[in-house]
Amino acid sequence: MSFSSLGLIDQIAGTLATLGYSTPTPVQSQAIPAVLAGRDVMAAAQTGTGKTAGFALPLIQRLAMKGQLSPNAARALVLVPTRELAEQVHESVKAYSAGLPLRTMVAYGGVSINPQMMHLRKGVDLLVATPGRLLDLERQNALKLNGVTMLVLDEADRMLDLGFSRELDQILAALPKTRQTLLFSATFSDPIRALGNRLLRDPVRIET
Ligand code: AMP
Repeated sequence: MSFSSLGLIDQIAGTLATLGYSTPTPVQSQAIPAVLAGRDVMAAAQTGTGKTAGFALPLIQRLAMKGQLSPNAARALVLVPTRELAEQVHESVKAYSAGLPLRTMVAYGGVSINPQMMHLRKGVDLLVATPGRLLDLERQNALKLNGVTMLVLDEADRMLDLGFSRELDQILAALPKTRQTLLFSATFSDPIRALGNRLLRDPVRIET
């Protein structure tokens, strides 16, 4: 199986070859075609399974193929529980989108908010963020959430464990109801299943 046969364009498949990715991992072979087709996804995937590329590659391709930026808006949002994961996911997104005309950004707390506000003025295609800082940006009118067409919750179980469920609810309430949603979690606990039932429409279920 190749990345091209999953539906990824040559530009992205070429980038993956230079990164030394020769074969998709199981979560990637299941997630990539589903996300490219516009489906919602509920995936049980631990760190090390290649889950980041599983959601990032098809999102990047969808963003590269259509749409344009609006000021102070993000087209796709990846929510993560910690700043370390935010940095890591954003580094992967930058590597995977090499050569494509995408504006990406990472935002987390504990650092000055002003550069983040400046960066958002022109709008971004893909924003990786932790929940608290995302809400701060929204409250300061630096970010509108009503243009988000794709949402990823990465390590959703850790997000709940770290007590982000209130923040999550506030973010979800500000997002458009019509959107594509991907939920990735290491475990499928009852609260994660409940979140999935609330957020996802007819999801493709992936267990690896
Ligand atoms: P993740 O599970 O997303 O944290 O990814 C784990 C590691 O596997 C990262 O260092 C990726 O760069 C690497 N990786 C992801 N997909 C592949 C692949 N298809 N082939 C080789 N390495 C990969």
